[in-house]
Amino acid sequence: MNSDYPLVPYEPPSWASRLTFIPKHRIQFANRNTPIQRWHLPGIPEDFQVLLKRDDMTGSVLSGNKIRKLEFLLADAVEKGCEVIMTCGGVRSNHCRATAIASCQMGLDCHLFLWSRTQDLQGQFTGNTLLDRMVGSNFYLVPHECSFQTEILPRMTQLQEHIKDTTGKKSYVVPLGGSNSVGVWGYIDCFQELVSQGLLEKVTDVVVASGSSGTVTGLAIGNFLTGNNLKIHGMAVLGDAAYFHFEADQILQDLGLQATDGSSGVKAADIMDIVEGAKGIGYGLSTPEELECIQEIAMTTGILTDPCYTGKAAFHTMRLMREDPGRFKGKEILFIHTGGWFDLFSGVMSSAVDGKTSAENKVTDWMELTDKVPVVQ
Ligand SMILES: *Cc1c(COP(=O)(O)O)cnc(C)c1O
Repeated sequence: MNSDYPLVPYEPPSWASRLTFIPKHRIQFANRNTPIQRWHLPGIPEDFQVLLKRDDMTGSVLSGNKIRKLEFLLADAVEKGCEVIMTCGGVRSNHCRATAIASCQMGLDCHLFLWSRTQDLQGQFTGNTLLDRMVGSNFYLVPHECSFQTEILPRMTQLQEHIKDTTGKKSYVVPLGGSNSVGVWGYIDCFQELVSQGLLEKVTDVVVASGSSGTVTGLAIGNFLTGNNLKIHGMAVLGDAAYFHFEADQILQDLGLQATDGSSGVKAADIMDIVEGAKGIGYGLSTPEELECIQEIAMTTGILTDPCYTGKAAFHTMRLMREDPGRFKGKEILFIHTGGWFDLFSGVMSSAVDGKTSAENKVTDWMELTDKVPVVQ
């Protein structure tokens, strides 16, 4: 363990003190109070105003939403005396990259189980996988149809036992996307940041890309405990509303906000609006329209969004504003940019940039310049 990353005592916001599980420590990784700016998304109805919270600026290589969760999860691992971290995600996973880098910085070993459609990356390490490899994480490619519960978890357990027997080291499993009653504190705590940034008075709705559910659940809990001033929307880039409600209800139970049989207390469905359909043709897959939208947002606003999460979420937020504006509580929208930049280097965007997009970003042979620009002799 590296003493440069000490456990720091954690004080929850006063409104969260009634929760029955409160982490005692965290490890400070994230840059807090991430900037808020106006975001002039192209082609949305004029009466909507969008503010952007730059959680893509929580760090550089650790950037995005996952690092807020890992502050609590990795503190929990250290408190439990674990020196090996294991987690699972898609091969392009931002969560796995953040886990690998944070673990490396702390001097912990990291093992990543990565769902992949190909079992051979043929040395093609791009985007997040390049960074995973650079920090020396152990890397297992898992066929993308494998189930976490019945296939991957038993293998992880086997590996943990093997590591324990051969090195004496104890392992800690970080759940998918870091979403459980520990990781969710990253966004319960972030809700306090929204309060302190004065956003409760400025916005009516919060929109965030949602995958493993922890981010939207943390925000929804914060909103619920502080009086339900906002409407919290999760743009589901995988799964359906039932899946998100199931995962979130589990966390509500673990925090004492819902009876363990679900018979009383707060229900996830009452405190969050899950927008189905934001996954488009499937998790991690993009339509030409989505990629062109990412490209258009980049060209008109200079803000880069990723194809797997934030770009899809922005695409569907813009669609909702045009087609179903009543879905929002009001017209002042806070979009949380949850990061994901490195996926722009996975190759997925190339077709949109190289292909049939507007002439504005065409690459011109520089020799052609002489025909267009007068050459001074
Ligand atoms: C993981 C991720 C999300 C989704 O957050 P969850 O807590 O898993 O729902 C959104 N955006 C980006 C860039 C992510 O990496």
